[in-house]
This record gives sequence, structure tokens and C-alpha cells, in this order.
Amino acid sequence: MTPDATLAARVTVDLDALAANWRALDELSGGTASAVVKADAYGLGAARVAPALARAGARRFFVALPDEGAALRAVLGPGPEICILGGFAPADIAVFRDHALVPVLNSAAQARAWFAAMPGAPAGLQVDSGMNRLGMEADELAGLLPLPPSVGFVMSHLACADEPEHPLNARQLGDFRALTDGLGLPRSLAATGGILLGRAFRFDFTRPGVGIYGGAPFAESRPVVTLEVPVIQLRDVAPGEAVGYGATWTADRPARIATIAAGYADGILRAAGAGGLAAFHAGRRLPGAGRVSMDLITLDVTGCAEIGPGTMVEILGPSQGVDQLAAAAGTIGYEILTSLGSRYSRRYTGG
Ligand SMILES: *Cc1c(COP(=O)(O)O)cnc(C)c1O
Repeated sequence: MTPDATLAARVTVDLDALAANWRALDELSGGTASAVVKADAYGLGAARVAPALARAGARRFFVALPDEGAALRAVLGPGPEICILGGFAPADIAVFRDHALVPVLNSAAQARAWFAAMPGAPAGLQVDSGMNRLGMEADELAGLLPLPPSVGFVMSHLACADEPEHPLNARQLGDFRALTDGLGLPRSLAATGGILLGRAFRFDFTRPGVGIYGGAPFAESRPVVTLEVPVIQLRDVAPGEAVGYGATWTADRPARIATIAAGYADGILRAAGAGGLAAFHAGRRLPGAGRVSMDLITLDVTGCAEIGPGTMVEILGPSQGVDQLAAAAGTIGYEILTSLGSRYSRRYTGG
């Protein structure tokens, strides 16, 4: 091993690329973008990501849960608005109050409970426009009118925004309009996919998430994440020898196998092993050989004389983005990002 060799795989987050992606989405939104940083900023570390986005100009942030909001308030300080997509439950009242969190009220019952517990405190409303996941129905909203002036916005969410041709997009747009016309409130419908659907979907502010982090459907995004994993052992196998659990890969020629120090416990999904998982080194593709283990992956590095113990190979980076790795695992870039484990050493560049 070289003296600087390590067993630690490394995630590098490019905060300049992240900020550039947010700015590009903000520009496409007519300067109205908020930033969605739920699930620890899609696995990339909200404590570093959110301040970088605030410096880029984001003033309103969305997370899913009150505890995420409290942690975010600690890093962002008192200025930015922090909204909780999951809604409001009375048992969490102290967290909302102590950290000045803004609930996105998803039902009439939640709204009444909030208005009673926190009179005058800012809130948003979510209406359901056809996804049938979160948000109030038309009759629930009607029952709340007139709304108190503390309600600052009304929003909804698109089910199929990553499929521009899907007929539900236009239907949700029409239903959102019908539900919210005349309320006199700032409106928001679009996440990353919705921003790309065009002007009609943008309303008064947008809520990009995955595009900030370099994922589809924002094809113009800059890659944000690099994941490099060290080779910790090499061996030569003879024709007929098998590699890994289940002996699913067998050498049909003399082969060189590199074992690298990350596995499905680190978010390199086991399903990717059967889907054409590969790592890269100096632009060269190193195909997976056999199943992904919990902590280890075996690669076929036959003919790559430059790969030795300690060599860092790339799982995510310029040669393979989150959506390509996702395709190998039969999933989406969102799941690759939020699955990145806690065992990596993390490094932030730029910002
Ligand atoms: C997660 C989420 C977003 C961000 O979605 P992306 O597709 O990641 O841009 C926006 N709004 C709501 C309600 C969400 O749940």
C-alpha cells in the first residue's frame, strides 16, 4: 500500500456546483426558488449544504420533519424561513415554537390545531391537486375560509412532473388553479420537474430539491457528488474460479479481482450488482464481479496494471453520475443520494 492509503471511502460534495445548480433553477423560476433540504439535504449533509444555498440566495427552506427543521435552524440562524412539509402535530408544538418553524398544514384539523395553538404564527397550506398523498381537499379548504392573515402561502405537489407528456400534469395544474384562484395567497406547485415543465407551472415560488444535487430530471445540472472507494485487496483467479456470495460470477479466463471497501451498507445497493454495476478509474470502466456484499465489492480489473492496493476507484463522479448508478440498481437518483451511508469520510469543496 502507498503511505497515504486508507480503508476509508470518501464522498466529496462540490458546494460550488451545488450553488450553481440552485442558481440555475432559481433563474428558471424567475428568481423565486426556495430550497428543499429534507433527509439531510438528500444525504449530502444539510449542515454544509444549507448554508451554501443561503449564501447563493435561498431564503426559504423545506424539510420533512420538525426535528430536521430544528437542526437546520441551528445552522442557518434566525433569518431564513424553514417550512415543515409533514404538517403539524400538537405534540411537536414546542419544537415549532422554539425554532420558529413554519408548518405546511395538510388538513383542516391540522390547520385548526395550529391556529388555536399559535395564533398569528406563520403557516403554509397544502392542497391536494391529484397526487392523493398530502394536502387538503376542496371542502376542507372551504371550511377554513376566511383564512387568518398568518397563512403565507398555499402549495401542492405534482405526481408525474418527471414525465412531461403525462396527462396528469395538465390536470393537476387546472385543479390547483381551481382550488386556489381568488385566495389572494402566494402559490407554489413546482419541484425540480415542475420547473422544467414551463412557465405555467411556476406560480409565485418553486421548490427544487433533486436538481440542486445534480439529479434527473434537471439534465443541465452540474455533478455535485463524487464517491471514491479504495482497493483493499487484489488477487488473480484462474478460469473456473468463482467470486463472491452465491458464486454468481465465474472467471472464463485468467482474471484479476480487486476488492474495494464499500458495500450495500454504504448505499451501493445490492440490486446494482445484478444490474451492471461498475466502478471507474482514469476513465476506464471496471465491471463488478459477483454480488455486492455489506461492506465490500469485487471488481474485474484484469489488464489494469496501474490498480494496486490503495488505489481509489470512482463509484460516483464524472464517469458515472447518480442516475447511471441508479439505473444499474433499478431505482432513481434520489434513492442513491439518500442511501449514501454514514461510514464515508466526507469532504466539501468550494462554497
Ligand atoms: C421532495 C419534495 C420537493 C422537492 O422535489 P424534487 O423532485 O427533489 O425537486 C418539493 N416539494 C415537495 C412537497 C416534496 O415532497
